[in-house]
Amino acid sequence: MYHHDLDFERQHIWHPYASMQHPEPVYPVKSASGVHLTFENGDKVIDGMASWWCAIHGYNVPELNAAATAQLAKMSHVMFGGLTHQPAIDLAKLLLSIVPNQLQHIFFSDSGSVSVEVAMKMALQYWQAQGNTHKNKFLALKHAYHGDTLGAMSVCDPALGIHQLFTHVLPQHYFSDVNIEALEGQFKAQHDKLAALIIEPIVQGAGGMRFYSAELLQQMRELCTRYDVLLIVDEIATGFGRTGKLFACEHANIQPDIMCIGKSLTGGYMTLAATLCSAQVCDGIHADGSGVLMHGPTFMANPLACAVALASVRLLLDSAWQCRVQSIEKQLQQGLAPCHEYAQVADVRVLGAMGIIEMKEAVNVTKIQNHLIEQGVWLRPFGKLIYTMPPFMMNEQDVQQLTSAMISASLLT
Ligand SMILES: *Cc1c(COP(=O)(O)O)cnc(C)c1O
Repeated sequence: MYHHDLDFERQHIWHPYASMQHPEPVYPVKSASGVHLTFENGDKVIDGMASWWCAIHGYNVPELNAAATAQLAKMSHVMFGGLTHQPAIDLAKLLLSIVPNQLQHIFFSDSGSVSVEVAMKMALQYWQAQGNTHKNKFLALKHAYHGDTLGAMSVCDPALGIHQLFTHVLPQHYFSDVNIEALEGQFKAQHDKLAALIIEPIVQGAGGMRFYSAELLQQMRELCTRYDVLLIVDEIATGFGRTGKLFACEHANIQPDIMCIGKSLTGGYMTLAATLCSAQVCDGIHADGSGVLMHGPTFMANPLACAVALASVRLLLDSAWQCRVQSIEKQLQQGLAPCHEYAQVADVRVLGAMGIIEMKEAVNVTKIQNHLIEQGVWLRPFGKLIYTMPPFMMNEQDVQQLTSAMISASLLT
């Protein structure tokens, strides 16, 4: 890669949540294989981010490469309006056999945020089709993150930066503290206006990497049932084994009415998401006899993405992923334990293949990232958090290197 390419990149290409005028440094990646990223300058780092929760099997995975290549030779894409194909049908069959069994219908879309939009539309259409026009608000949790499109943003914690900028255009919904008393109060006061409660189960991700109990998740399900409010569970980050269960709902043994999946669905190969719903929700949407679900992305059920997703989910289910995630959990607990003592550290949390050091102050991302790369590790801290979500097949030695680098990074600030 030439210097003028990097100059061009700095002047013309936007990065996530970034300034075009004062860009942070970006590191050019040449290739990725197993748990390693190789930079253009030859440096090789252990990837502790799984590319934002997605690359659960690591990179350049033979089974996924084979699935993509085989599908490419047949067709990479056809429209889903009026057509269907084997990859979508096979993937739908497999997904419906592993999600909570009340979920019976699936809508494929192209990103997590869009799957959240679809989930919200499902809930709104469900009540509308039954002539209930009052139930058109959502209840969400403080610290929630559900995506970056306008509808999804409207159910993200209002204190998050992305929300504040758009307060004047976003529809106003309700937010609850993450405890049973607050939730009960909101349900009592607002239930006749609520189409759905939308939550990330057990782990709140991009809003702060916070955990809550399975008991509270159970209580949310009970409140929804008691007050006739739909439950939308956003498993985009937690799905496919990350928390130690295949889906985080399983920690509490609950059945959602609507569920969103995405991120690691294709093992990080390409973008695909889905919204699943119960027979009750599906029937409700059609209750007025003329109802159709009003959504239809151009790349809906993209065959290439479906074929790779099918291979990725099969690879996960055929692997010893529970053992892998458990042993990573144990190693993260042990490896990060020393941080508890540090004055700069507010909290250390581990669940499944997720390890989080929460600092007392916001960290200097560039400084920490430089340090981590010197230690041979790739992480992307945000806010006060230095955290990892490694691919599940990361070996002990690499997890050890990862936790050591995190510990020394936490001493930097
Ligand atoms: C990442 C994420 C989304 C948004 O998914 P995109 O594919 O980035 O649009 C929504 N909800 C949760 C919980 C997420 O982690």
